[in-house]
Amino acid sequence: MNLGMKENLSGIRKKKIRALFAAAVLAAALFLPACSGPTETNAPSNVTAGSSPEAVPYIEVNGNVPEFTEDEITAESFEQYAELDALGRCGTAFACVGQDLMPTEDRGSIGQVKPSGWHTVKYDCVDGKYLYNRCHLIGYQLSGENANEQNLITGTRYLNIDGMLSFENEIADYVKETGNHVMYRVTPEFEGDNLVADGVQMEALSVEDDGAGVCFNVFAYNIQPGVEIDYATGESWLSGETKEIEEQREYTDEEKGTEDYMINTSTKKFHHPDCSSIINTKEENKESFNGPRQWLIENGYEPCGKCKP
Ligand SMILES: [Zn+2]
Repeated sequence: MNLGMKENLSGIRKKKIRALFAAAVLAAALFLPACSGPTETNAPSNVTAGSSPEAVPYIEVNGNVPEFTEDEITAESFEQYAELDALGRCGTAFACVGQDLMPTEDRGSIGQVKPSGWHTVKYDCVDGKYLYNRCHLIGYQLSGENANEQNLITGTRYLNIDGMLSFENEIADYVKETGNHVMYRVTPEFEGDNLVADGVQMEALSVEDDGAGVCFNVFAYNIQPGVEIDYATGESWLSGETKEIEEQREYTDEEKGTEDYMINTSTKKFHHPDCSSIINTKEENKESFNGPRQWLIENGYEPCGKCKP
């Protein structure tokens, strides 16, 4: 079941990537390229075509051409963020980045924001140890939007650094140097009801020079080499290990018993709630338990010899 679940997840992701490619091909046929310039893929050179898409931090979408409409393109700075959806997930963040949007103050704390699917979890194989970062959709250096919950998703360190940072730097450098504007749209892609995004699409186009300075359309994967992620919940585990799933077996009525016990956590004995032994036990050593008798047995608890629960 564990393996099946993982295969299923990666199957979904591959399907999604294929769909993205298909959409990109279709879109390329419909849209005129808005900008020229090199469209080389930035995949590491040791990655060959046909290898797992998980091996690269991002892929180009629509031939690397962003899909802003004429109406959307403006040389006036703005930023807009979507309301969180019913599951608490971010939507598209959209901005026209100009120097006036950029932060002038030091960045404060964002630790109070808990994006959907958030877990604080560390792995030795992750740079900086923490698997997840509170990942800005529109980078702080571009918008100055810091602890804005509509601009923060649960993103892997790899997405943050290998997937997004170089693109954000490219925009920031360009805007600082030229004083021009860059249309910038970041769309997190959630599969179904998943709480953690598969990745983010990032589109950017420099306005005053019609894309000569900055022009890209990429999808960056929310992955972490060496770590497997359950995108439904944000749970994670080391690659090669199986995710622990609590066994949910069915118990017979006999196994279930009365389903109402008191446990002495010190002696590991369980009792009827009205047993004098448990009533006289110190509060800190007793816990009520509502569940199958058999579960207690299987988890190392013994029935009290006096009340014979
Ligand atoms: Zn007892």
